[in-house]
Amino acid sequence: MLNENQKKLQKNRMIAIGLAIAVTAAITVTVIAAVSARRNKPVTDPTTGSPTAQPTVQTTKGKPEAPVIAEKVTFLAPLAAGNVTDAWSADVPVFSDTMEDYRVHTGVDITAAAGTPVYAAADGTVESVEFHPMMGQSVVLVHADGYKTVYRNLQTAIPEAIVPGAAVKAGDSIGKVGDTALIEIAEEPHLHFEIYKDDVCEDPLDHIAITPVDASADYEDVTD
Ligand SMILES: [Zn+2]
Repeated sequence: MLNENQKKLQKNRMIAIGLAIAVTAAITVTVIAAVSARRNKPVTDPTTGSPTAQPTVQTTKGKPEAPVIAEKVTFLAPLAAGNVTDAWSADVPVFSDTMEDYRVHTGVDITAAAGTPVYAAADGTVESVEFHPMMGQSVVLVHADGYKTVYRNLQTAIPEAIVPGAAVKAGDSIGKVGDTALIEIAEEPHLHFEIYKDDVCEDPLDHIAITPVDASADYEDVTD
């Protein structure tokens, strides 16, 4: 009798142990599945709630991924040819023939015949097309890497495609050389051209080379 009971007890114990092992195994499998599922889920940006870039699977053996390098912007001359008649002087005021006073000059003035096509100096997007009360017809382009280019003193007529938000390629015509800037009206028709990097004005001639119309033009003397 006792033996029978002991046997029964032992059998029950075996069943219990077996069940416990089975349950543990099931839980383990479930946890592993859940963890791996979570790993495969897209990472969500907490600020926007949208999925961020997936962690990239390294395909090249042992090679670390190339660091992200800011896109380098190179600029073309906005005119096929022209003569720099007023240099950039954003820090030191220079005499203005029109205003007959000293003021900073945040761009370069490149003289060319009225109507000469003006080109986008780099790929980018049109930020604005507007008639500035002092600087005349103006186009502003936004480029990669925090750059902006500004084209002023243009003729009033601007190509139809040049509207805010439009994409432009370097060399696209964005307007024509004019004489609409009241503040520079005493000068010949010219393009007033500015470059900004992160909203800081830079000397355009550090970025572009202008082919002179008149080879004898002396660029050393333009600021005299
Ligand atoms: Zn100017």
